[in-house]
Amino acid sequence: MFRIGIGHDTHRLAQGRLLILGGVRIESERGAEGHSDADALTHAITDAILGALCEGDIGMHFPDHDPRWKNADSLQLLARVMWLAGERGFHIVNVDATVMLERPKLRPYIQEMCEKLADVLGVEVDCVSVKAKTGEGLDAVGEGRAVTAQAVVLLEKV
Ligand SMILES: [Zn+2]
Repeated sequence: MFRIGIGHDTHRLAQGRLLILGGVRIESERGAEGHSDADALTHAITDAILGALCEGDIGMHFPDHDPRWKNADSLQLLARVMWLAGERGFHIVNVDATVMLERPKLRPYIQEMCEKLADVLGVEVDCVSVKAKTGEGLDAVGEGRAVTAQAVVLLEKV
């Protein structure tokens, strides 16, 4: 049996915050605001898995008023959701994701993001795709005020 899920996430960018995407620290003047480490890519993937499982969303599982998740490592949140998927007998077939960020260019970081994510997702690195786009100078991403990410995940129960 296969299940598919979609995830989307946005974080505001601000001075004085770290920018972490897919568990990788990105050299950037501005970082992402949020209760956890504000890793939009990992959040989108986490939400996609929860969606495939019909298990609500990331805010329901890790509420932003809960001090346990303050500055939380989002890869650990993803690992908790992977544990849930495993309990249900599901494993990941593949993940496809897009990160939208005006700058810096993410290409130098993508391989490391895929490796970190694949490790937590329990798949080979060639089952995780991360693509990077800019906002072409338009909208909040294009103006450098936000980072967004989208992800689709396919789960299989064997
Ligand atoms: Zn988020």
